[in-house]
Parts: sequence; C-alpha cells; structure tokens
Amino acid sequence: MNTPPSTAQPVQHRMRSTWHSATIVETRAETPHSVRMTLAVPTWPGSEPGSHLDVRLTAPDGYQASRSYSVASSSPWGHVVLAIDELPDGEVSPFLVNEARPGDTLEVHGPLGSYFVWRPGQNDRPVQLIAGGSGVVPLYAMAVAHDLAEDTTPFQLLYSVRTPADAFFAAELTELAGPSFQVTHVYTRQAPTGWPGTVGRLTRDTLAASTIPPSERPRVYVCGSTGFAETVATWLLDLGHSTTDILTERFGGL
Ligand SMILES: Cc1cc2nc3c(=O)[nH]c(=O)nc-3n(C[C@H](O)[C@H](O)[C@H](O)COP(=O)(O)OP(=O)(O)OC[C@H]3O[C@@H](n4cnc5c(N)ncnc54)[C@H](O)[C@@H]3O)c2cc1C
Repeated sequence: MNTPPSTAQPVQHRMRSTWHSATIVETRAETPHSVRMTLAVPTWPGSEPGSHLDVRLTAPDGYQASRSYSVASSSPWGHVVLAIDELPDGEVSPFLVNEARPGDTLEVHGPLGSYFVWRPGQNDRPVQLIAGGSGVVPLYAMAVAHDLAEDTTPFQLLYSVRTPADAFFAAELTELAGPSFQVTHVYTRQAPTGWPGTVGRLTRDTLAASTIPPSERPRVYVCGSTGFAETVATWLLDLGHSTTDILTERFGGL
C-alpha cells in the first residue's frame, strides 16, 4: 500500500493546519450508535475531500484527550460536519456521542491528511471507494465533491455495514447514487427486507464481484477499522491491483 508521501503533494493543495476553537452548533443521531455533529470553527481554512482533523477535549482538571475524525463536509462560513461512532469502551467517542451538547466548546487541529484525498479533476482513472462502518465518512466527502463538481469520473462505493440502520449518510448516499456513482452494500448482520444478496461479512469473492477490476486501474480508497482496511487491502493486492493504486485509512481497533 501507499505510505503517506512527505513531499509529494503540490504546494497549492496544502492548507495550513493549526489548532482552532470550535463550538458545537448541532448534534443529531446519525445511526443508533453515532452522532452527526456540526461545529462552528470561524478560523477553519477549509479542507479537501477525505481529510480529517483532531478533536481535543480538555477536562476541568486540565486532562486532555484527542482523537482524529474525518471531515464529512465543511462550508466557507466555517461549519464543519463530523460523524462519530461510539465505541462503548472508548475514552472519547462515548462523550462525543452521548454527552456533548450544542454550545459546548472544544478544539480542533487541521485540516490533516492530504494523502487520503480525492480532488475533482483527478479524472484520468475511475475511483473505487470501499468502506466499513464509520469508514465511509471521508469517502462520503469525496462522493459529494464528485457530485458538486459534476465530475464524470466513474465512482463506485462498496459499503459494508452491520444493518441498514447502521449506515452513515444513508439518505445522502441514496440521493448521490446515479450513472456515475454506484453504491453497493454488504450487510454483515441483517439486510433490508427483500434484499436479494446474502448476509455476512465481506469476502474476497464479493469484493472481486462488486468493485472495479484491476484492469481498469482504479484509484482505490479503503477506510474502516484497522482489521477491515488491512484485510481488504490484502485481497485487492491478491486480485491484481497495484500497491500504488490502493490508499488506506485505518480508524483503529482490530
Ligand atoms: C485518520 C482517522 C480518521 C478517523 N475518522 C473517524 C470518523 O470520521 N468517525 C469515527 O467514528 N471515528 C473515526 N476515527 C476513529 C477515532 O479517531 C477514534 O479512534 C474512535 O472514536 C475511538 O476513540 P475512543 O477514544 O472512543 O476509543 P479508545 O479509548 O481510543 O479505544 C477504545 C478501544 O477501542 C479500540 N478502537 C479504537 N478505534 C477503533 C475502531 N475504529 N474500531 C474498533 N475498535 C477501535 C481501541 O483499540 C481500544 O481497545 C478516525 C481515526 C483516524 C486515525
């Protein structure tokens, strides 16, 4: 797989990353175990589709904890949207999902990750997005950018979730789907009524059957838990994709 290049990105694509004060302006349930959070970040310089930021929380006793979250969208007026999945035994995500409220303040550092981005105009090759769970967040940002730019680059998303209710940005992805953006779901625990496919974890055969073949040299973006991303990347290599065509982002865990 590609490793993040230290100097490979053109200068014009770099955005200055620094710490910013942020205020939560809205939270709403994204799935039964996650929240969509809109932050007002007046000094936010903007971000590219796929990039992320670090959220830093500071307790009254001064203890700090920070975690990375992908930017689902950001606006010119400094609203930044995140989607955060709760890990029940986690330190930060349960607070953000269950306790953080509009008006609360925190700090964010970014934008970060110019490596895992797709930019409109990169239209020489098709794009295959592959997500597990909350790993769809940066890929959703790419799909939105593709749509807003009316870019005709063929885009496909293979999205693995436990159940339909666990899908992030479900309505938006349905809306975005069309001739140049195909969405395929894998349901690992429960599928919608009438689902024609099988229910179960993503397999190498399903991956091969549901993604753009290596002969078309797609740019492949893989995002999810560390185990998901590594398994999928290994299968992609087995199927014949080139290591330089696969970009992975690992959210942590096994
Ligand atoms: C670049 C980047 C972007 C990210 N973007 C998002 C995002 O958009 N939305 C989102 O919900 N999360 C995202 N994450 C994951 C996020 O940074 C945290 O790791 C996650 O919220 C857990 O933090 P925590 O403090 O609750 O858990 P921790 O206290 O850090 O960990 C608790 C336990 O859960 C395990 N664990 C940590 N992360 C995961 C995981 N992803 N899956 C399974 N087990 C895990 C740990 O190994 C540990 O055992 C991103 C991570 C990275 C590196």
